[in-house]
Amino acid sequence: MYIISACLLGENCKYNGGNNLNEKVMEIVKNRNYIAVCPEVAVGFPTPRPPAEIRGGRVYNIEGNDVTEEFEKGAAMELARAKELADRLGEDIELAILKSNSPSCGCGRIYDGTFTHRLVPGDGIFARLLKENGIKTISEEES
Ligand code: SF4
Repeated sequence: MYIISACLLGENCKYNGGNNLNEKVMEIVKNRNYIAVCPEVAVGFPTPRPPAEIRGGRVYNIEGNDVTEEFEKGAAMELARAKELADRLGEDIELAILKSNSPSCGCGRIYDGTFTHRLVPGDGIFARLLKENGIKTISEEES
């Protein structure tokens, strides 16, 4: 079973109300079990919502509010949901394909916290949690 960022599958859960539909990812999930996740929506953030970035290990939205706890809670909720489905299917979670650069889903590279579109090495909160749980995690760019 795969974990996929919901915005890559065309769900309008992105901070600006849009999505990141990716045809390659759509093709990959055609013949396999997967779960679409969005940790930010799972924890109750509205869509659209203020963009957020990671600075000094904490997540701040563009209004300056520290939303780290919410991001961590949403990540844990979506991981739990994925594990439940994998158990029900009797499958392992083989791979997560996550949206690049996001403060939740970014995998290996994230925005630097200044809201100026600059990227730095690092993982989003959800990507980090998956890696800590031994789940292979890649961005849609590597898929
Ligand atoms: S949290 Fe992840 S799934 Fe949700 S909109 Fe952001 S990148 Fe997409």
